[in-house]
Amino acid sequence: MKISSPRGTSDILPDQIAAWQALEQTARTLFKTYGYSEIRTPVFEDTGLFKRSLGETTEVVNKQLLEVKSQREGAADDAAFALRPEGTASVVRAYNQYDLGREEFLSKLFYIAPMFRGERPQKGRLRQFHQIGAEAIGRGADHPLLDAEIIALSVELLKSFGLSDFKLKINSLGSAQDKQKFADWLRAELKDKISHLSDTCKDQYERNVFRLLDSKDEDCKKVVQGLNIGTRHLSDSGLKYFEEVKKGLDQLGVAYEVSSQLVRGLDYYTHTVFEISYAGLGAQDALGAGGRYNGLIEQLGGGDRRFPEPVGAIGFALGMERILLALEAQGKTVVSKPSIDVFAVAGKLEFEKDVFALVNLLRENGISADMDFGCGRAVKKQFDQANKLGARFVLVLGEEEMRHGTVGFKNMFTGDQTDVPRNEIILKIKSML
Ligand code: AMP
Repeated sequence: MKISSPRGTSDILPDQIAAWQALEQTARTLFKTYGYSEIRTPVFEDTGLFKRSLGETTEVVNKQLLEVKSQREGAADDAAFALRPEGTASVVRAYNQYDLGREEFLSKLFYIAPMFRGERPQKGRLRQFHQIGAEAIGRGADHPLLDAEIIALSVELLKSFGLSDFKLKINSLGSAQDKQKFADWLRAELKDKISHLSDTCKDQYERNVFRLLDSKDEDCKKVVQGLNIGTRHLSDSGLKYFEEVKKGLDQLGVAYEVSSQLVRGLDYYTHTVFEISYAGLGAQDALGAGGRYNGLIEQLGGGDRRFPEPVGAIGFALGMERILLALEAQGKTVVSKPSIDVFAVAGKLEFEKDVFALVNLLRENGISADMDFGCGRAVKKQFDQANKLGARFVLVLGEEEMRHGTVGFKNMFTGDQTDVPRNEIILKIKSML
């Protein structure tokens, strides 16, 4: 029986890889322009890290953590690891662990990495998916213009991938106190309206009332739409901060819509939150999201006691699979085309070793080259293989060529064919590449 990849995971095959590499390269270039450096963290972490940062009541921790069990003898107790469901917790853990704040007023970090969530798989929703994300952390990260910068960066990334027609929504949850006030107000408003709602909604009301605001449940949606949320929960300073963020976005010419329903499911967000969606994706239409999370650094044991204010932090993550689906929907997929400089053909099986040596010589000279390994397949079959690999030139070693110390040289674009002395072949190819 053939073994398939686990449900909710997918392989990226060679004919799809160009599209992925294009995203990665474009992202790396743009991150550099904005002053972000790459960070790579482990694929798994102590489960406690996610519980403490994302919140025990959030769906990601409650239902979707993929825990890793060690089979090492006697490891049962200390094997509480989980595959990372998102990038922020790990980046903050590393920021604290290496005390990056001691050296840097502002750390600007990015990652391109796989994430894991035990979700019910469907189109655009996987158990292993990939994110491009960025985090700006440090005492220099508590500035509304940085919120504007990071939102603009996420929008610019999508644009530079070639995507259009996506929508940016922003909102502010205010400070931790404002957020608490917001939660209390929501509970009071909804208290008399939840009795006819589903058990899931009632459970969310108790455990994490913000979740109700982005519920997919139709009854719940109706109740929530009747709320007049606005910015009532924001203190003066929270309101002022949000105004500055919006001014920054206006200055950068970033189009946005303010949505008071936008709250984001994870516990750690404060102040600015944002989400980018593309309607063409259907149910799973979120391309990416992010927000500010002042306070998380201290919550995970970091921070600097000399300063009363929490270390500032803001970040976002874009889902690569969804970006690729959106690009496909817009007819902008990058297609992988194999290409190789030279394919060398053996006229007879006995010349195979000479072809092998020739291919090696070409490679030593930085020319990409390959051969058939077909144990004397017909020359026509070898030419077919050259075409499949997108070879620009084919070299042939047959009876005649072996006798005269030459190589048959065919330009696959023009069809021109000549004989070239063996000791001139490298120069000849280099002059044509
Ligand atoms: P989140 O942290 O859930 O806001 O995720 C940020 C982005 O990652 C989302 O907007 C999606 O584009 C992507 N994403 C999250 N979960 C999944 C998943 N299970 N499968 C594919 N993409 C995902």
